[in-house]
Amino acid sequence: MEYIFSLEFIYLIASITYIIGLKKLGHPETARSGNLIAAAGMTIAILGTIFLYQGEVPTFIYTLIGVAILIGTIIGWMVAKKVAMTKMPELVSMFNGMGGASAALIGLIEFGHYTGNSLSIMTILGGVIIGSVSFSGSMIAWAKLNGTLSKPLRLPKYNLLNNLFLLALFAFSAYIVWSGSSSQLLLYVLFFGALTYGILFVLPIGGADMPVVISLLNSFTGLAAALGGFLYGNMVMLTGGILVGSAGTILTFAMCHAMNRPLSNVIFGGFGDKGYDGSGSSSGIQGDIKKTTVSDVAILMNYSQKVIIVPGYGLAVAQAQHAIHELEQLLEKRGIDVKYAIHPVAGRMPGHMNVLLAETNVEYDKLAEMEDVNPEFQNTDVVFVVGANDVVNPAAHNDPKSPIYGMPILDVENAKQIIVNKRSMKPGYAGIENELFFNQKTSMLFGDAKGVIQSLITELKGMS
Ligand code: NDP
Repeated sequence: MEYIFSLEFIYLIASITYIIGLKKLGHPETARSGNLIAAAGMTIAILGTIFLYQGEVPTFIYTLIGVAILIGTIIGWMVAKKVAMTKMPELVSMFNGMGGASAALIGLIEFGHYTGNSLSIMTILGGVIIGSVSFSGSMIAWAKLNGTLSKPLRLPKYNLLNNLFLLALFAFSAYIVWSGSSSQLLLYVLFFGALTYGILFVLPIGGADMPVVISLLNSFTGLAAALGGFLYGNMVMLTGGILVGSAGTILTFAMCHAMNRPLSNVIFGGFGDKGYDGSGSSSGIQGDIKKTTVSDVAILMNYSQKVIIVPGYGLAVAQAQHAIHELEQLLEKRGIDVKYAIHPVAGRMPGHMNVLLAETNVEYDKLAEMEDVNPEFQNTDVVFVVGANDVVNPAAHNDPKSPIYGMPILDVENAKQIIVNKRSMKPGYAGIENELFFNQKTSMLFGDAKGVIQSLITELKGMS
């Protein structure tokens, strides 16, 4: 009985909830309950740490912890309640940054308590560097996701500069460990150095390469938290950190694969080395676009055998997930084969389109991954591109100067007819023109995705 109320037991339970939660997050149908289970485990771990800790703790510390939890809970609750679905990616980036900052703070506070213990000092400095890079890098990612920083900012020779900076950080931490110094000044120099590196690291990243960096920053936060757990010998922190770190690392590799970039390019630079100057367009595309109308598209779809829908960030902006599901069901009822082609970096966060479509209960087997669906486009009558742009931009194949060159895309050009729905000719996240819009087979259906799809549904319902 005594064991049940021990901190070890609480931590064991909490660790198990994280593992179950993570497993459930792997599928849209179970993700919600997975999130709740892991959050409950985290609550138990926090309460256990506060109330079952065996050492002497002054009462005012409990008051401080209580006030901090209260403020954090109120802010977190209000922000999460109010945030629009479209702002979710930047909120996730902000929360990730907060995790990194917490891990760095542990290092700043504990540094003076472990003088003479080289292993602990290395752990602390590792936590300070990784946590700080994750914090400042995530803040830049946040600004890039919400559009405050719309173009990559690059100093001359930025790759060389960044790598030298990183080497200097490592050399400086090695000096602190080797000298056995307990100087807070040195620690703060390292802290601000790491914050600066995080900014320099993420600022030059071009639009289409952001997904890789975001998942890498996720794994950094997990790693920094795991180092904190290792320092304290705290099993739940260690387990949580390792799970976040390894999940983030797996996601980073998946994103690298999706973007066709080696991981060494992410860490040591190389993005933007393909001649793109960040000017917003590298292709100078010329030609005319063809506009179409809702009724023409309805007729086209009605007489098709196979339609593939390509959702992108604009679908999330328009909150058109329910409308597109209704359109899909309507077409299916008429015997038309419909599926969704999901690009791994469509939207603004990993799995964005899967989450969005799961919200409206689209059947999971209707979602086709890029590798599986690409060979199918040539047998497709109509591709309906809804609010997607970069993920269908042929510049990724044709234009070596483009910032997305080399990224695998959905080969919608191979379909018989291409309908593109967006509001204007403005570019997508990577800030470049799209020659697909000028393709002979492409017709532009301008308007907000939700309104356009609803009109399509009305039009189709009026047809026999
Ligand atoms: P894009 O950002 O390339 O394009 C979205 C398009 O949607 C825009 O061209 C916009 O055109 C259109 N749009 C916006 N609002 C609406 C609306 N209400 N109705 C209809 N259309 C609308 O999105 P993609 O999904 O194609 O590509 C994702 C991009 O984001 C990639 O470059 C990726 O690298 C990047 N990214 C992805 C992350 C991830 O983890 N998934 C993270 C960070 C970046 P218009 O304004 O004319 O309507």
